[in-house]
Amino acid sequence: MSERVLRGSRLGSVSYETDRDTDLAPRQMVEYACPRGHRFTVPFATEAELPSTWQCTLCSAVALLTDGAPPEEKAGKPPRTHWDMLLERRSVDDLEVLLTERLELLRGAESGGRKTA
Ligand SMILES: [Zn+2]
Repeated sequence: MSERVLRGSRLGSVSYETDRDTDLAPRQMVEYACPRGHRFTVPFATEAELPSTWQCTLCSAVALLTDGAPPEEKAGKPPRTHWDMLLERRSVDDLEVLLTERLELLRGAESGGRKTA
């Protein structure tokens, strides 16, 4: 039956070579986004394991697979440090005042402690 289909197509304008190409494993176009904003697609066989990164075709940077989570989320914000959290509650001016107070206390305690010597 399939032979008959092939023969039929050979009679038409479509060449046998083209038919063979369509018989190849099904493909998928996988999109990657590079940190410089380039987006490009790479063809993979559907059963292929997709690499999570691919070299950008435009600038050779490491591009990330855009399948699923958007790349902005993957890049993410850097984790908040204690310093960041501190700054959310107090301004740098506040912190400087606190620091000077602390330093004065320390110096006071130090000189006070040495007075006996
Ligand atoms: Zn790029």
